[in-house]
Amino acid sequence: MEILIAEDDRISRHTLKRILEKWGHRVTAAENGQQAWDFFLTHRPPMVITDWEMPEISGLDLCSRIKDEVGNSGDTYLILLTANDKPKHLAEGLFAGADDYVKKPFNQQELQARIRSGERIIQMAAALRKAKEEMERQALTDSLTSLPNRRAMLETLRSEESRMLRERRPVGVVMVDVDNFKNINDTFGHQTGDKVLKLVADCLAGTIRGGDHVGRWGGEEFLTILPGADLIQCAEIAERCRAFLANQRVRSEDGQVFHVTASFGAAATQGAGRLDIMTLVQHADKAMYWSKAAGRNRVKIFVERRQGSSKNSSRQSS
Ligand code: GH3
Ligand code: MG
Ligand code: MG
Ligand code: MG
Repeated sequence: MEILIAEDDRISRHTLKRILEKWGHRVTAAENGQQAWDFFLTHRPPMVITDWEMPEISGLDLCSRIKDEVGNSGDTYLILLTANDKPKHLAEGLFAGADDYVKKPFNQQELQARIRSGERIIQMAAALRKAKEEMERQALTDSLTSLPNRRAMLETLRSEESRMLRERRPVGVVMVDVDNFKNINDTFGHQTGDKVLKLVADCLAGTIRGGDHVGRWGGEEFLTILPGADLIQCAEIAERCRAFLANQRVRSEDGQVFHVTASFGAAATQGAGRLDIMTLVQHADKAMYWSKAAGRNRVKIFVERRQGSSKNSSRQSS
């Protein structure tokens, strides 16, 4: 394990370093609290063993600084090593943020055992963090298509909105809805329906560029977010996706081959900052319904009329 020691006494420092290294740890030795603090900030070692009395920053200060920095993450285990061994010292050390306390001069067996118990805590915290990350990942992923789900897309929309305002650049969104999907389910069965959803997901994900986002917005609806794209570029990307999907052949469970199409609606911020992004999504949705109404398997764009005009209009891009 990576261990940082902080000890101002040269002989104690060398002895401790040698012993820890003999036990197989990778050790960095700091001569004072300040040096230890600087090293901690850049390297984040999982364990710190610190002396109490040191110039500049004391071991006690070091403990509270580190705990302030890492919070209750359990990422760093602190052992205070000191000759201040009265109960009130022990209490003071633990209150300052130390996880454990070993009296100086230390008994090697005891120190080794306490390092072990610290290691167990560190491993537990790491396992917990991993499990939490995996749960968060799952909560943001659609299990059928492996695309980001609606919740994840809402987060992306929010962060793209802030970026759009900050960098004053356009952002586009495209709403995609599989055509006659209920019919596909009814004719070929739900298993084939699921296969179609995966195909649509793959087509969309394979057509957009790096930096763009695609997610499953609802049942057979998908949303793409295209940072930096204006309306024309949005329509072009949508058209590329539409054509690519329409050219795919799907085989049903009972061997029938058929085609799948989808209807697309595109919208983009023209001059950045005038539009909130959820309105943009509504515009894309509206344009997608225009595609449905016009016969499906096409792209429609939402064109906002200038102020003074009462009506919005759309036009087909393909
Ligand atoms: P339109 O062209 O107007 O969009 O017609 P549609 O049939 O695609 O639209 P509708 O909204 O009537 O039907 C959507 C269907 O999608 C109904 C629902 O059962 C099905 N569906 C939603 N999620 C899933 C899924 O995860 N798997 C499967 N197999 N079907 C799904
Ligand atoms: Mg000292
Ligand atoms: Mg739908
Ligand atoms: Mg549909």
